[in-house]
Amino acid sequence: MVPFRRGRLEMGRVGPFAKGEAMERVDADRWYRVQHVGDGVTLIDEPFIKAFYRCNIWHVRGRDRDLLIDSGMGVVSLRAHVPLVTEKRLTALASHTHFDHIGCHHEFAERIVHPAEADILAHPTRAATLANPYATDAIFEALPPAPYASSDYGVTSAAATGFVADGDLVDLGDRRFEVIHTPGHSPGGVALWEAETGILFSGDIVYDGPLVEDTYHANAADYVASMARLFDIPARVVHGGHFPSYDGRRHKAIIRAWLTEKGALGAKP
Ligand SMILES: [Zn+2]
Ligand SMILES: [Zn+2]
Repeated sequence: MVPFRRGRLEMGRVGPFAKGEAMERVDADRWYRVQHVGDGVTLIDEPFIKAFYRCNIWHVRGRDRDLLIDSGMGVVSLRAHVPLVTEKRLTALASHTHFDHIGCHHEFAERIVHPAEADILAHPTRAATLANPYATDAIFEALPPAPYASSDYGVTSAAATGFVADGDLVDLGDRRFEVIHTPGHSPGGVALWEAETGILFSGDIVYDGPLVEDTYHANAADYVASMARLFDIPARVVHGGHFPSYDGRRHKAIIRAWLTEKGALGAKP
């Protein structure tokens, strides 16, 4: 127990910025961070967004076209500040349609999503994308460049130009990703599985951090079924929607622990 020391209480600063003090803004050219992670995969993220809210944007190099899995919050132009995404024909896929994942989709001519969330991509209201309640200044370490204001923030509408459903193949010419429909966190969540390399892009259904199971369109039974299905994927590396990537052992451990907590481990080894 720490005794209360009268007279030692410092008034004023609470956290990095005291009430009424303006939060620092970051220049657009510093907003994105780009890291090559191997296998022709590049992680693009927004380091000035706090870790829990920071979306992993995955760029996958293909022979005939590139694939972009998610596009971040959309507060700074991805096309203008990350040249990688303009180098060749590119398809922007939405792992799902929460605001942190689809903010720059409108910048790309080819946009694909699962039909269950097509309406949200076309009409991305603050409520539908979870910008309400999440998109406030509190999710930032430093703010995007002016004139960004959290109170005015919204995702720009970008209707899908194509759809993917369970079992479909996303073919980049020299690499193929199988679409796994993973409802639970949201109804149109998809994961992408490249059997040849053992890479799984999981979106927000599973990653190495606190999972979000209580969104307005979450479904507990679907969540369990999706996790049970992903458990059986022999992943070598998992690139999730948030937090650092991890290997196949960690993949099994995360899902085993989660299913155990739900009393849904069943016959899983
Ligand atoms: Zn999400
Ligand atoms: Zn997310």
